[in-house]
Amino acid sequence: MPRKIIPKECGCGCGGVTKGGEFLPGHDSKTLSAVIEAVGGTSNLKLLVESVLNRQIEVKL
Ligand SMILES: [Zn+2]
Repeated sequence: MPRKIIPKECGCGCGGVTKGGEFLPGHDSKTLSAVIEAVGGTSNLKLLVESVLNRQIEVKL
């Protein structure tokens, strides 16, 4: 049976509508880049998210 397609508004704020995913193709990575730039870098983003979650993020290398 085909999966039911529930259109969703793209998570980046472009106003586009996806076919059920959170983002239109490519918009997720553009959003992530914009978020990282807005907070001044990846390590700042990690610190910010950790302070919101009130726990450390384990980075698996
Ligand atoms: Zn978008």
